[in-house]
Amino acid sequence: METTIAAISTAMSASGIGIIRISGENAMDVISRIYRSKGGKKKIKEVPTHTIHYGYIYDGEELIDEVLVMIMHAPRTFTGEDTVEIDCHGGVYAMQRVLDTVLKNGAEIAEPGEFTKRAFLNGRMDLSQAEAVMDVIQAKNEYALRSSMDQLRGSVQKAIRDIREKLIYHIAYIESALDDPEHISLDGYPQELLEVVDNEQKEVKRLLKTSSDGKMIQEGIQTVILGKPNAGKSSLLNLLIGENRAIVTDIAGTTRDILEEYITLHGISLKIIDTAGIRETKDIVEKIGVDRAREMAQKADLILYVVDSSVPLDENDEEIMEMLTGKKAIILYNKTDLQPEIQPEILKEKTGHPVIPISAKEEKGITELEEQIKDMFFGGEISFNDEVYITNARHKAALEEADRSLDLVRNSIEMGMPEDFFSIDLMNAYENLGKILGESVGEDLVNEIFSKFCMGK
Ligand code: GDP
Repeated sequence: METTIAAISTAMSASGIGIIRISGENAMDVISRIYRSKGGKKKIKEVPTHTIHYGYIYDGEELIDEVLVMIMHAPRTFTGEDTVEIDCHGGVYAMQRVLDTVLKNGAEIAEPGEFTKRAFLNGRMDLSQAEAVMDVIQAKNEYALRSSMDQLRGSVQKAIRDIREKLIYHIAYIESALDDPEHISLDGYPQELLEVVDNEQKEVKRLLKTSSDGKMIQEGIQTVILGKPNAGKSSLLNLLIGENRAIVTDIAGTTRDILEEYITLHGISLKIIDTAGIRETKDIVEKIGVDRAREMAQKADLILYVVDSSVPLDENDEEIMEMLTGKKAIILYNKTDLQPEIQPEILKEKTGHPVIPISAKEEKGITELEEQIKDMFFGGEISFNDEVYITNARHKAALEEADRSLDLVRNSIEMGMPEDFFSIDLMNAYENLGKILGESVGEDLVNEIFSKFCMGK
């Protein structure tokens, strides 16, 4: 028998309400031991499922909190098990006392992600959907939220299932033909299979292609701001941040003062690297050295190169312009409020990248910059009509494996190999795609995935 688990599912900070969630076979026993209705008559074990009840939580004879209790019987619950949610007052101490009372009366503390893990193990959702739960919680912008919600509703699952259905049909066909050659002929079949492999591989490749957009949607476009001292980098950064709520995070395991900052422009996130370098020394190149700057520029999805248009170009600029080769970059022709020393056309000619006139001081040109970024990365608009985005690295790896297996099937067909060779690799492709849904993945991997979840989810 699975244990009955409980945890605080809301943030551990003082707030209006806090939610304690209990899930498992004994959930109703636990709540019936600690809940009392206002009049004291209601028997919580006998109320209909999916109903809400006002009352009190008692630890023995001690009143702990005034609450609302949600009663949800299996199987129509998030975890697929009997579930109780207690809405209590959201003070950190109040929530902890209610949780302690629940734990004293027959529940065990849940591990991070354990509710969602149970939902997966009980077949309430596949692994791609369970992973989407975490992505929804962590979404940093509108598009990330939308694509995670689509995945939660089964968009990835459906795309994968469609491909697998075709593959399993042909695996079964080959097997039956080999078992019963008298009745099922494989004459001309390889040609037919080649067409199927082509089509399904096209679909796999299409999904794989969305993964770079998917990653940028989810994690933000990795952006580096370059420019010589006094060009206006920190003014630009402040302007972008000032207009938007920015989230500042330390990059784990790197130099103490390398910071990344998220800026959201019309639903697209820019993850701006090393903002500390820009702010503290006024010059990223001076602080970290040309080599590091070049390395960062190499890694970035996007380079914003800020040019002070009121002074002539110098060797600093030449050095930076070199870093832009082969990269996505936007030249920000800054200080347009001053007398120009350089013409924007020259910059365009020298670098081949789009040039946008701005004035960080007068806060001009930012809308044009946003439009340019959207154009550059998402062809103007991100269309979510029926596009499925692969945002998860694990899904991407499984798709790549499937792609390789389909290559092998194609090779075998083209080399005129016997049919049983086809089905081995078709099966590999089928199983690799199945990993996305959580089929035949080991317990270790499942534990690892869910351990990254937050407490109470
Ligand atoms: P950084 O060294 O590249 O980070 O440059 P800063 O952002 O610190 O800017 C250097 C100087 O240029 C500061 O005095 C800013 O106020 C000024 N500055 C930045 N942008 C503009 C602009 O668009 N117009 C004018 N006139 N001055 C600007």
